[in-house]
Amino acid sequence: MDYKKYITVVEDWPKEGVRFKDITTLMDNGPAYKSAVDEIVSYAKEKEVDLIVGPEARGFIVGCPVSYALEIGFAPVRKEGKLPREVIKVSYGLEYGENVLTIHKDAIKPGQRVLITDDLLATGGTIEATIKLVEELGGVVVGCAFLIELTYLNGKDKLEGYDVLTLMQY
Ligand code: IMP
Repeated sequence: MDYKKYITVVEDWPKEGVRFKDITTLMDNGPAYKSAVDEIVSYAKEKEVDLIVGPEARGFIVGCPVSYALEIGFAPVRKEGKLPREVIKVSYGLEYGENVLTIHKDAIKPGQRVLITDDLLATGGTIEATIKLVEELGGVVVGCAFLIELTYLNGKDKLEGYDVLTLMQY
């Protein structure tokens, strides 16, 4: 399916010079959203995934329906202070400042085969940090799936050695 026709490119948002890829218009279209999820479900089956892990908030939009379809769990990665029980955390640099991501300490059993999902791969910082959390808990990252890849930001360089699926490239 040509998913790009369902993505809205918003000029100069959230700041000047950024061409934001808005996936809500893809989610709005039932058949397009289902088809995108189905592709990731097939990929997850191929990789014999035990658990999906996704960073907030759009990683949930992509990962939760995959979990549901495969009857496997979903573990959320959230910003600091959002998860109610014991967590491990990782910080990573943003263009300005830094971000802290957390996951519940008991979210992953050692050896579990994990698929990481998010809407978009840009510089790769978010996913690199998510991989660190998964691996610290003993999970095995068998794949990373995104709706969109911004190829000019070379996020895949940070994911060397990991298998990556992207449905659209800009
Ligand atoms: P990265 O860490 O630089 O790879 O940025 C990826 C994160 O930023 C993802 O969690 C995305 O949700 C978000 N993001 C960056 N640019 C866009 C965009 O154009 N559309 C939607 N999300 C974006």
